[in-house]
Amino acid sequence: MILLDGKETANRLNEQLKLRIIDAYKTYGRIPELDVILVGDHPASLSYIRGKERACKKVGMAYRLHHLKTDVSQKELEALIDQLNEDVNVDGMILQLPIPKHLDEVSLIDRIRIDKDADGFHVINQGNMYQKRKAIHPATPQGIMMLLDAYDIDVKGMNATIIGRSNIVGFPVARLLMDRNATITVCHSKTKDLSEHTKNADIIIAAVGVPRMLKKEMVKPGAIIIDVGINRIDDKLIGDVDFEALKDVVGYMTPVPKGVGPMTISALMDNTFSLYFAHVNNA
Ligand code: NAD
Repeated sequence: MILLDGKETANRLNEQLKLRIIDAYKTYGRIPELDVILVGDHPASLSYIRGKERACKKVGMAYRLHHLKTDVSQKELEALIDQLNEDVNVDGMILQLPIPKHLDEVSLIDRIRIDKDADGFHVINQGNMYQKRKAIHPATPQGIMMLLDAYDIDVKGMNATIIGRSNIVGFPVARLLMDRNATITVCHSKTKDLSEHTKNADIIIAAVGVPRMLKKEMVKPGAIIIDVGINRIDDKLIGDVDFEALKDVVGYMTPVPKGVGPMTISALMDNTFSLYFAHVNNA
C-alpha cells in the first residue's frame, strides 16, 4: 500500500506557495491576508483554526482572528462580515463552522463577498463550480484533488464511490471527480447496501463521521482510499476507514491524521492566494 501522505505533500505545496508570495510581495507591495471568524469555543474548531494560523505563518500570509462570543447576534456578525468585505487588506475570509443554532448560517455565508470567499461555500461560487465555470472550490474537495495530483493518480474511467453527500465535502468532491472523468456513485445514510457500491469502486472517498465504518470486506483489492473523516475518541483522531484492516489490501490510502486535514488547509491557502492575486491585479 502506498500511503497518501497529506502532511508531507501539504508541506511541499506550502513551501512552493511561500515562494510565490515572496515574489508577489516584490511586485505588489503587500502580502495576502486571511481572516477567520470564530463563534464560541468549539474544541475541534479551536484546533482547526490553530492549524490555519500555523499554515498562514509558514507561507507568509497575514492571519487575523475575529473570536466572538457564543451569544453574538446575527446583526453583529453581519456587521463584521460587511466590515471585512469593505476592508481592502482582507483577501479571504472564512466563517468557521459549525456556528450556534440561533444564527442563520446560509445567509451569513452568502453575505461574504464572492471575491473573498476563501472556503468556496458561497452559493454563487458553488453554482459556478457545478457549472464548471471559474470558481473557488471548497477546500477539502480541492485538497483531495491536489493530493491525487501529487501522486499522479488519474481517475479517468475509474469507478468512484463517495460516501457522504454534504455541501462541503461529499457533493462537491463528486463534481470534481466527475470533471476528471470518473464514474460517480454517491452514497449516504439512506443507501440500502453500501458494500454493493464500495466493492465495485476503484476509488472511495469516505466523508461520513462514523469511526472505522469502511471495513476490509467492503473494498476491492488495490483500491484507492481517501479518508476524510475526523472522529475524536479519547483525545485521539480516528478516520472513517479501518486503516489497520485495509492497509494490506488496498493500493493507496490516506492516514488520519496527516492525510486530508493538512491538504484542506493547503487548499485554503491556495484559495486565499488566488483571491489576493485577483485583488492586486484589479487594484
Ligand atoms: P455531514 O455530517 O455534513 O455529512 C455526513 C454524510 O454522511 C451525510 O451526507 C450522511 O448522509 C452520510 N452518512 C451518515 N451516516 C452514514 C452511513 N451509515 N452510511 C453512509 N452514509 C452515511 O459531514 P461532513 O461535514 O461532510 O463531514 C464528514 C466527516 O469529514 C466528518 O467526520 C468531518 O469531521 C470530516 N471532515 C474532515 C475535513 C478534513 O479536512 N479532513 C473537512 C471537513 C469534514
